[in-house]
Amino acid sequence: MSYFDHPDFDDHEHVSYFADPDSGLRAIIAIHNTVLGPAGGGCRMWDYASDEEALRDALRLSRAMTYKIALAGLPGGGGKTVIIGDATRDKSESLLLAIGRAVQRLGGRYIIAEDVGTTPEDMETIARETDFVVGRPGESGDTSPATGYGVYLGLRTAVARKLGTDALEGIRVAVQGAGNVATYLCQHLHEAGARLAIADPNEAAAGELAEKVGATIVSPERIYDEECDVFSPCALGAVLNDETIPRLRCSVVAGGANNQLAEDRHAEALAARGILYAPDYVLNAGGIINAYREAIRLSQADSPGYDESWALEQVERIAATLDEILDIADRESITPDRAAARKVETILEEARSRAKPQSATSARA
Ligand code: NAD
Repeated sequence: MSYFDHPDFDDHEHVSYFADPDSGLRAIIAIHNTVLGPAGGGCRMWDYASDEEALRDALRLSRAMTYKIALAGLPGGGGKTVIIGDATRDKSESLLLAIGRAVQRLGGRYIIAEDVGTTPEDMETIARETDFVVGRPGESGDTSPATGYGVYLGLRTAVARKLGTDALEGIRVAVQGAGNVATYLCQHLHEAGARLAIADPNEAAAGELAEKVGATIVSPERIYDEECDVFSPCALGAVLNDETIPRLRCSVVAGGANNQLAEDRHAEALAARGILYAPDYVLNAGGIINAYREAIRLSQADSPGYDESWALEQVERIAATLDEILDIADRESITPDRAAARKVETILEEARSRAKPQSATSARA
């Protein structure tokens, strides 16, 4: 199959493959769109079964970053790095330096950050080879508090729309995952009086979080069947699919995991079951908002740089953004996922027309 016919190709501006035989690096950097500004996106290191699987992830995740950043109202675009390899086995200093050189060669069109399989400390290593990196320790390194808070605000908005109550007291939330994002989300939900059920194959993580927030533990296989008001995916992608959607016993799906829909058509499958799906890239933008001020200092030396309280304040806009998207969905009788995509298309179209060079006639006038 040619690259341009790839089902996940969405007019990506630039996709590069990088290899460094000395360190064993094999990586793809996908830049989806830079109409609003330089592309930002994390560096995922994963033991992909094939190069094709890695390309698919790079294409999908970079596009999701464009959407996430545009809807968060930030002047940036979407990109993603995927490194093919097992982070626990194959990650080394020389491999991180090699990806740093690759990022530097892109000349600032793409800014790298941490993601699954990489850490703030890895960004410190990468920064020895490139200027275009954010998320180092002491800067916007841990994005989970902001992400968890944003997911909480989005979940609350979705509940208000679907169940007609602003209060989360007694609302039953089934959370898939007990990692970083889930932990912050559950703390907010617990404080708001929600009743929580948690599933994670890492039994220690599930047990620790359940104790902290007074949750019950459900097996990872049964979490889709849990009777609840909200199902909150906070672990893996593609968990909303033909097999799981018929099993859900909730009114709302609102969580932090990236790429929750296995395919776009699953947004319609959820709507057909009367379930309100809050698009993942609207809810989980807290991490990128968190990194934003650190990122602009790369191009504007006088910018104030990373500031956690500023970031948390900006994250509060996620509730209003989701409300606006749900309004569009209601008005136009489309799914929230489609409404969010339409809003992104409008934002990008406006930016493109602002950026168009003036015609010779109007430039002379
Ligand atoms: P994490 O690695 O801290 O936590 C993920 C948890 O999911 C782990 O505890 C893991 O054991 C668990 N898990 C794995 N398979 C599972 C299964 N089948 N059922 C239930 N749990 C399972 O990761 P995180 O930082 O909390 O991120 C979670 C999700 O949120 C990911 O999809 C990530 O891409 C997305 N996300 C994270 C951020 C962020 O700031 N950390 C930002 C945006 C999106």
